[in-house]
Amino acid sequence: MHVHDETTARLAEAILAYSVQRMQMDPPPLDHGSTARELADRAGPTITATGIGGLEALRVFAEVLGPACISVDHPRFLSFVPAAPTEASILFDLVVGASSIFAGSWLEGSGAVYAENEALRYVADLAGFPAAAGGVFVSGGTAGNLSALIAARWRWRQRAGGRHDRTRGLIITSSGTHSSVASASRAMDADVLVVPADEQGRLHTEALDAAIAGMSAPDLERVFAIVATCGTTNAGVIDHLDGVADAAERLRIWMHVDGAYGGAGLAAPSVRPLYIGIERADSFIVDPHKWLFAPFDCCALIYRDPEIGRLAHTQHAEYLDVLHGSGDEWNPSDFAHHLSRRARGLPFWFSLATYGTEQYTEAVETTLQVAHAGAELVDAAAHLELIMRPELSVVMFRRTGWSPAQYQDWSDRLLLSGAAFVTPSAWNGETILRICVVNPRTTVGDIAMIIESLA
Ligand SMILES: *Cc1c(COP(=O)(O)O)cnc(C)c1O
Repeated sequence: MHVHDETTARLAEAILAYSVQRMQMDPPPLDHGSTARELADRAGPTITATGIGGLEALRVFAEVLGPACISVDHPRFLSFVPAAPTEASILFDLVVGASSIFAGSWLEGSGAVYAENEALRYVADLAGFPAAAGGVFVSGGTAGNLSALIAARWRWRQRAGGRHDRTRGLIITSSGTHSSVASASRAMDADVLVVPADEQGRLHTEALDAAIAGMSAPDLERVFAIVATCGTTNAGVIDHLDGVADAAERLRIWMHVDGAYGGAGLAAPSVRPLYIGIERADSFIVDPHKWLFAPFDCCALIYRDPEIGRLAHTQHAEYLDVLHGSGDEWNPSDFAHHLSRRARGLPFWFSLATYGTEQYTEAVETTLQVAHAGAELVDAAAHLELIMRPELSVVMFRRTGWSPAQYQDWSDRLLLSGAAFVTPSAWNGETILRICVVNPRTTVGDIAMIIESLA
């Protein structure tokens, strides 16, 4: 350990060769999960007193553990929200790992933080945020939503001048919102008012206004944020952001927009008008690890006024105060609920620098076209029913006459055969199918193949 000898050199060669080979697979094997018992039998003991050696550990990973992980970047991985990191972003992830960067403070990581901020600027510009906007890359949408809501609550309490220091806060959101908002509210011990979304899962201005009109005065006092979603996870629809912004302005409360999945659509002119109003938000998030082609884990959290994020989150201690020297350095640790952090925005930055933003726009447009063409195929198939025309890149549909068990059997068989990964979802209590296209390598032919397998 801690020596660079011939063994290290051989391991470096093997690891680079493995990484390059994995990247060049087109497509990689889809693979599927295993039980812990099977894995234990096949992997054998790996952590021992004297070590099994890097080459052997790599063999165990390549032959046993890796194949027990479903390849999220496979073009027919269409469940949940898949991922499709670019070649440049994957390669640079190796560089970030090799560089031992602490990216929490300007003092320690100024070069990395500068580059991350360039990438955040690209995202902020997509949303039309002002020049003063800024934020930080956190692990994912869950961490981003929590951190934004903590800043929102901080501002609410600050403005109340002590009156609300012990008041339980209240978040207004909709039934289409991602589960992470409820999770944040539990972590913050706050309440959530869930406004019913329309039949397609979208939050409408009228429903929001009606819900607000029905609130008691003491409850209205407790509201510190409205959370809107641009690209709901299940249906991929966008809330009426302008109407949400009007309400937030009227109530003088924080507007947060969750674009973890759908925020990437801001880069696509064909759907950009659907996002009007996002430029009025106080904060928003987008996960580049979802639809902006970065490796896990990477969520961009942007504040309109980063100073609020900083005041809400900065940790103070004898051993940390040296970081807050002159006050104008950008310390990413100060803008979210974390301290130590990997420079997880760098692979995204490197990829943006490598390819240019136009290729991002094209790649997002490609996935939108494939999803929309796929929806037309579904619509034309006698055995399938489209649940709604896709707004972004999620297609929801039912296989007529199937029970939940039939959906699950089909899904299991598809995965085990290595053909595709499409899990059942639910819509208004009914088991349905849902595919989410974020991989520019996914083709209409891939969707046609899945449709055929449902006959
Ligand atoms: C995926 C998703 C999240 C959670 O993001 P993670 O990166 O998985 O933590 C939050 N909101 C929406 C709308 C999402 O699609």
